Amino acid sequence: MNNQFEEILENSLNRAIDRDEALFLFQETEDGAKAEQLFLTARKVREKVKGNIFEWSAGIARVLKCNLQPLCRYCPYWREKGQIPLSIEEILKGVAYIQQHGIKKFHLSGGTTLGSEGHDVLGIVQAIRAAGFTDLAIEVNCGAAMSLETLKELKRLGVYRVSSVFETINPEVFRRTKPGDDLEAKKKFAQRIGDAGLKLGTGVMAGLGPEETKYQDYVDFMFHVKQYEHLHYVYVTKFTPFKGIAMEDHPACSAQEAARVIAIMRLVLPNIDIGSAAGWNATDINRTPNYKKGSVADGFLYQDNMEFRNTMETMQKRYQELGIKIIS
Ligand code: SF4
Repeated sequence: MNNQFEEILENSLNRAIDRDEALFLFQETEDGAKAEQLFLTARKVREKVKGNIFEWSAGIARVLKCNLQPLCRYCPYWREKGQIPLSIEEILKGVAYIQQHGIKKFHLSGGTTLGSEGHDVLGIVQAIRAAGFTDLAIEVNCGAAMSLETLKELKRLGVYRVSSVFETINPEVFRRTKPGDDLEAKKKFAQRIGDAGLKLGTGVMAGLGPEETKYQDYVDFMFHVKQYEHLHYVYVTKFTPFKGIAMEDHPACSAQEAARVIAIMRLVLPNIDIGSAAGWNATDINRTPNYKKGSVADGFLYQDNMEFRNTMETMQKRYQELGIKIIS
């Protein structure tokens, strides 16, 4: 087993790693020096397969209310009474901001209504196109409930990707942390997205499950999503014990663990776009006072009862220093 670690990393430069190898890498990279070797290899694989590029994207949050009962136990949204989603007018202000900043892709994110046909999100996309924003690529991430007809219509309107975000594929952890949601419905929805000819986005939350099963859970997630032929994008979020959530006492996930999930995922899914979620987009748009009040230094701007967060300048600097080319 001595050189097995180096051997797996070496082989990963030419082929995707298998389940056992992925699990082995998780166990071995608790050691900091080995984690650095893993990160270096993941970077090499990304540069080889995807090139050294970063693409601007933006997001408009809270376009639909979440009606899950109960809400996911890690979720900081929709906990206060009387919160309402963005209006169409507010969403259009956000789209105009995105276009003015030269960004060509953005996502609409919102909550879940189990069993919905998805007419509400379809109405939002129709309104965006009717307002003349015809050349912006749109991704939809609004829970796992849309009919095949809605998905086909979204595709016709230029939506390129729809997400079915699992966070975990372990049924027990899913049931415990997302008691109002439905894992099997999400799996079916992920398939339906492909049936409509759309690309699939999904996500995993690092640090959500228990210590004893977490590495197996990450590996099971990666190999479950790998089977979707239309898989295009996976994002990794870190569990954070936000004040007021049901899991307030659950430990925060370290940046190192989340980075190892991203790096090992790169070796399992070399051709897939991998990113980190919420707060990492070039621009995030929301309503104020809703979620948090940020400082100008962190890129927050408050205007027209809206919250805009623009980190393009900071990110441009950071990526230039890393030699990464930014495209829009
Ligand atoms: S589905 Fe999304 S918005 Fe709804 S409770 Fe879960 S994490 Fe929060």
